[in-house]
Amino acid sequence: MGNSPVAVISDIHGNLEALQAVLHFLDERGIGKIVCLGDLVGYGPNPNEVVELIRERKIPCCLGNHDAAVIGKTSVAFFNEWAREAVFWTSGILNPDSRAYLLTLPLRIHEEDCLFVHASPSRPMEWRYLMSALDAEDEFPFFDERICFVGHSHHPVIFPEKGYAVIEQKFHLVDGERYIINVGSVGQPRDNDPRAAVCILDAEKKVVSYERIGYDVEKVKWKIIQAGLPEYLALRLVRGK
Ligand code: ZN
Repeated sequence: MGNSPVAVISDIHGNLEALQAVLHFLDERGIGKIVCLGDLVGYGPNPNEVVELIRERKIPCCLGNHDAAVIGKTSVAFFNEWAREAVFWTSGILNPDSRAYLLTLPLRIHEEDCLFVHASPSRPMEWRYLMSALDAEDEFPFFDERICFVGHSHHPVIFPEKGYAVIEQKFHLVDGERYIINVGSVGQPRDNDPRAAVCILDAEKKVVSYERIGYDVEKVKWKIIQAGLPEYLALRLVRGK
């Protein structure tokens, strides 16, 4: 990935305020290299605005399951009722430009020693959740890169190829070891912390760090309710659940 730090973001879910806060944070620190793991839309009130901002900033982006559902590339049969309702709502509001852009998103992005994918490297379109070290263990044979970044579960966690899952704000990479790294969620965290999550890889310092960025969650909560999206989606946002 070269020597400059790279920020990896995921699961923005139509939450424009959270994305703006994260980009502002990265701009202030001079981190210009950003990769997104998908789920630009679904759950949140501003899918078109999020797509526009990602395009405007030329941030490379993978296809997420919500993106795929909204453009008819994946079934909503396995979505829970709130997710499904949000997919229908989003389909109704998505403009032709946003739809056309989502249709171009790849399942995987390879860059030097990193692989970027929304859910899992083995079968990305099956949208598998990697919740434990055991889940992650099955996935290592399916990529050659040193690090695979994933999103999807909205839970920040690092799975080394050997050893236990690690949840740490700052993690030192060990030479020769490989990793699957979940970057957490920008727009709908589920680890009891409502602040937006971003993961930064500093390959030169061999450090992966997680940052949490506060934004106006109450404002987004009301936008969700006013948009007519399920109220539960507004309430979980405030609780980070
Ligand atoms: Zn998601």
